[in-house]
Amino acid sequence: MSEMEAYSHERKRMVDKQMVRRGIRDERVLEAMLAIPRHEFVPPEQVHQAYVDAPLPIGNSQTISQPYIVALMTELLYLKGDETVLEIGTGSGYQAAILAHLAKKVYSIERIPELAERAQSLLHSLQLENIEVVVGDGSCGLPEHAPYQAIIVTASAPEVPKPLEDQLSDGGRLVVPVGSRVGQVLELWRREGQKLVCEKLAPVAFVPLIGEHAWSHE
Ligand code: SAH
Repeated sequence: MSEMEAYSHERKRMVDKQMVRRGIRDERVLEAMLAIPRHEFVPPEQVHQAYVDAPLPIGNSQTISQPYIVALMTELLYLKGDETVLEIGTGSGYQAAILAHLAKKVYSIERIPELAERAQSLLHSLQLENIEVVVGDGSCGLPEHAPYQAIIVTASAPEVPKPLEDQLSDGGRLVVPVGSRVGQVLELWRREGQKLVCEKLAPVAFVPLIGEHAWSHE
């Protein structure tokens, strides 16, 4: 078996055991998880762990999320293919790659320039051309391309950053881990006109969102 076949085999196992068995049903999400080579997004010393059921360190004290959490958060966005999506917390770029597979355009904001540069060049080399990585404070959103049909925050906030609410389109969906610095609840917010409706989902543990409308320091 070639190396590429071996990785594709590992992805198939990951999708069956970690996603389908735990209730991920959106065929397009499962297909994206099969297509994107997660092992390319982890540091060389973690490659053999790329498809395990866990988050992994990616340097700069940050992590690439557990595959199941990526699938769950993505499924909650109900992407059909014509959306403009905003991601806060590019990290390795893996979640952004999954989103790019499922939406029209993805803007992803990262506060650590080194991570942003690495992610952008990897995404480019994988020919995912519909993603733009921006260096900055994602707790302020990205007003120049708003509104977004979907917003996903992959770092944890003490509450939903207000600018993100404002940049969500009517009918849009926002997924964000909200809570303390040690543990959070995954929240799904939907805009219905002037109203925002919240649904609380699963307990999660994310690294903190650090910025003007989030935690003030590491
Ligand atoms: N989605 C990533 C994992 C995110 S880890 C992946 O698929 O690999 C969370 C990331 O959020 C970290 O890289 C951290 O630097 C970044 N981050 C924290 N606060 C931020 C902010 N205010 N704006 C943008 N990025 C932020």
